[in-house]
Amino acid sequence: MADLHHFIDGARVAGTSGRVGEVFDPSTGVVRAHVPLASAGEVAAAVASAVRAFPAWAATPPVRRARVMFRFKELIEKHADELSRLVTGEHGKVLSDALGSLTRGLEVVEFACGMPHLLKGEYAENVGSEIDSWSARQPLGICAGITPFNFPVMVPLWMFPIAVTAGNCFILKPSEKVPSAALRLVELAFEAGLPPGVLNLVNGDAEAVDALLAAPEIGAISFVGSTPVAEHVWRTGTAAGKRVQALGGAKNHMVVMPDADMDLATDALMGAAYGSAGERCMAVSVAVAVGAAGDALVSRLAPKARSLRVGAGTDSEAEMGPLVTAAHKARVEGYIAAGVSEGAALVVDGRGLALQGHEGGFFTGASLFDHVRPDMSIYRDEIFGPVLSVVRAESFDDALALVNAHPFGNGAAIFTRDGDAARAFSANVAAGMVGVNVPIPVPMAFMSFGGWKRSLFGDHHIHGMEGVRFYTRLKTVTSRWPASIRAGADYIMPTMK
Ligand code: NAD
Repeated sequence: MADLHHFIDGARVAGTSGRVGEVFDPSTGVVRAHVPLASAGEVAAAVASAVRAFPAWAATPPVRRARVMFRFKELIEKHADELSRLVTGEHGKVLSDALGSLTRGLEVVEFACGMPHLLKGEYAENVGSEIDSWSARQPLGICAGITPFNFPVMVPLWMFPIAVTAGNCFILKPSEKVPSAALRLVELAFEAGLPPGVLNLVNGDAEAVDALLAAPEIGAISFVGSTPVAEHVWRTGTAAGKRVQALGGAKNHMVVMPDADMDLATDALMGAAYGSAGERCMAVSVAVAVGAAGDALVSRLAPKARSLRVGAGTDSEAEMGPLVTAAHKARVEGYIAAGVSEGAALVVDGRGLALQGHEGGFFTGASLFDHVRPDMSIYRDEIFGPVLSVVRAESFDDALALVNAHPFGNGAAIFTRDGDAARAFSANVAAGMVGVNVPIPVPMAFMSFGGWKRSLFGDHHIHGMEGVRFYTRLKTVTSRWPASIRAGADYIMPTMK
């Protein structure tokens, strides 16, 4: 069993708080590591290290900072198998999916390699007589990132490659449920050439998060996790004068029009609802079937959900792995019971799944509900498990109104052959990321990722140019050289004549 550590000032540091968390292998239910849970004092050590490192790192030419990212990219590629196995070992998702999510994170590193270009501002010559003006993006100072359990590599990579290449120092607090992959990533970034203190990692839980929120040296916080914690982080951080981008939970709807290719829509729903056991913020958990699409979809989905291959993430035949913890499995199965008692039709029941050799694992099969109504808890709440709800709608307008009335607004998709319906959906749906015949419309690294409504608190989406803007502040310089300055004070607003 591994005893994990923090990573501060370029070195592994043992925990000193006396508090540790258990990290499970979800496919067996066995504890595979202990993770230290940082105290406020340990967080303060990470902050102090970042403060020491910042002046020299901010003064390092962006092109040299970017070269570290080129080396980091090579190291991630070299260690892709090791990192994916750490993800699968602690999260449970199947290896091919772990590798896919690593690739999506790697793309942010590739984006950060272009930082010298991205930091460039604008230049205007002769804005007044013999006066020139230019703008530049400069780092904020010390930034922190708090990440969820469901993407142990990808979500940290949404944040720190952009932050540090823009010249900031960064403190990462990964999920205490899946700490090992993030720890390895940070070690690789150091091996790639980040100076000590530029990227620190503290393991921990709410106590560490609250210490980060309270640290006056930290200028910006990126958070990804559940909505209640996102809102807490945003309220506390902004009240303390920090920039905060806090991405929260989701209940993503996929509208299926009666003219859609039903086989295509069914396959899309299977992957989007049950991939990664539904533990994705962009998972589709609600299918809104318009008119005749309802029966056509449910009759296709049911046999596929029943025959979905569930197994350990390391089993190359498995299409879906276990849930992350026993507590989460109990929560997901509690929602299935609630759906039944609220009157939804449970077409496929994934509960009670037993896998030979994995009796202690946190497995549940795919579940499918039909005739779900908006007042039911399985519709209102984010379940974050392999549970798909089919809601019937009479028309496109009803379907759109349903999506827009939901408090979450992360992603939304429409499946149709009708360009007019697709266009009206894209224009009017209240969600930050929209798919047209694409079930999980996750924007690429050079675009930006983020939801609307209670799926995101703050003003900036994450990565892409939104990430560059979030981790930098704009400075505009107006300059005139002494030879051109004539004597005499001006007492009116300069008019740049
Ligand atoms: P979580 O909110 O429980 O934990 C996220 C982070 O917050 C962890 O690092 C955790 O240690 C910390 N934390 C937990 N409770 C806290 C508290 N009371 N005070 C301060 N910090 C606290 O989320 P999770 O269960 O790890 O992740 C799943 C959630 O994340 C889902 O709701 C999912 O939709 C969401 N998510 C959203 C996105 C997105 O981009 N919008 C992406 C991935 C996951």
